Amino acid sequence: MEKVRVRFAPSPTGPFSIGNARTALYNWLFARHEGGEFFLRIEDTDKERSKKEYEEDILEGLMWLGLAWDNAEVMRQSERGKVYEAALTKLLDEGRAYYCFCTPDELEADRQAQMSQGIPPKYGGKCRHLSKEEAAKKLGTTSAVIRFAMPLREVEFEDMIRGKVRTNTDLIGDIVIAKNIREPLYNFSVVVDDAAMQITHVIRGEDHLSNTPKQITLAEALGLPVPQYAHLPLILGPDKKKLSKRNLEGSLNDYRRQGYLPEAALNFLVLLGWHPAKDREVLTRDEMIAEFTLKRAQKGGAVFNEEKLAWLNLQHLKAVPVEILLERLAPFIPLEWQKHPLFLRKVFEIERGRMKTLGEFTTLADSFFALPEYPASLLLWKETPKEEVIKNLEDAEGLIVAAPEKKITARELEFDLFEMANRTGRGALLWPLRVALSGREASPGPLELIEVLGKEESLRRIRRALALLGENSESGAGSLA
Ligand code: GLU
Repeated sequence: MEKVRVRFAPSPTGPFSIGNARTALYNWLFARHEGGEFFLRIEDTDKERSKKEYEEDILEGLMWLGLAWDNAEVMRQSERGKVYEAALTKLLDEGRAYYCFCTPDELEADRQAQMSQGIPPKYGGKCRHLSKEEAAKKLGTTSAVIRFAMPLREVEFEDMIRGKVRTNTDLIGDIVIAKNIREPLYNFSVVVDDAAMQITHVIRGEDHLSNTPKQITLAEALGLPVPQYAHLPLILGPDKKKLSKRNLEGSLNDYRRQGYLPEAALNFLVLLGWHPAKDREVLTRDEMIAEFTLKRAQKGGAVFNEEKLAWLNLQHLKAVPVEILLERLAPFIPLEWQKHPLFLRKVFEIERGRMKTLGEFTTLADSFFALPEYPASLLLWKETPKEEVIKNLEDAEGLIVAAPEKKITARELEFDLFEMANRTGRGALLWPLRVALSGREASPGPLELIEVLGKEESLRRIRRALALLGENSESGAGSLA
């Protein structure tokens, strides 16, 4: 088989959407699996709608996902005017394309007439019959578009996902392929570029299925090779209806900004229309590359489910090495925290299993860096009298004071602390101790907290709790600044 060459060809007319990201991933995986190449082409011929900021959003998203492209220079359609002009001229010279001078009003009247006769509307072909001389005469004075003289026939192609697809071009008619000689439209430029880039396989969304016969006939008219095609299923919302506006129009980068991992995003995207053997769900990038074939791609709509993404993120948060996660964490945390890398790492390791996204880390971890304010009442455990809580905290304090080293491991304290807790009642000791150490209603367990905070800081926090309880002997509700 010839070497596989695929491309991702986004139009920068909106942010890097979920659908776009999936198309990019499937192309990239197909290339990597087949030992081929993956190219990037920016389809920015629509001058009004194309925006630099969208292009940047797309490039940023691709880099975040790690979908590197193999062309050193990104191809931009806006820089290829001359190439399209030459190809359009060729078609015009050969009579395979022609200038059309019909006004919007005329076209609308034709359309209405066809609809009232129950005929599917298409261009009636009036200007197709103008001689070259007549057209040349009108050209300077009347505005004109360029139409493709569609050859009448049945176009058949073998879609790698959907199987045989047949269309009669009579239903399509003479499509507009350029607004003028310098402004080609999508169906035309795509054909010229796919051939120039020697693309072997076009993998893209099902919304392009109706463009494929147009592109095949155009490629043939231009004497260019026709690539193979694969159309990916639509992405549906959880209710199996159209994806919501927010998800359709939002950027994949929003998930990055919330602290989702690129590993989870890739995993989520790959399952939107494809599944590995044995229906596994959690996959690494290498596993995806090893297993990705279009044979396992599905025809039916793929369901987008945000909960699944959250779940996958959790799985990857557990699996990705801590060094890598700490690098990813950097933009989410205060600069100050980064000055204590060893402490940060310890805190991260104990909080890792409790967060759904990296964005949640700061809230979960800030009590390690500064004891939050909390009311004395939070230290109290159920019906246990305050005096008993004070006594238990003092005993715990004693235990920590007696620890020989500044660094205390959870293991060395475990036995004594639990023995003590069995005597006092577990909650009556462990609850106030945990609150004293964290200042929070929910946190990791006291042993883990002591190990991370160290002897000095743990004692300081327990003493503050005792002071707080002592200060409020009447009401039991006060707070420490
Ligand atoms: N620019 C088109 C899009 O973003 C590309 C379609 C194609 O892959 O041919 O939908």
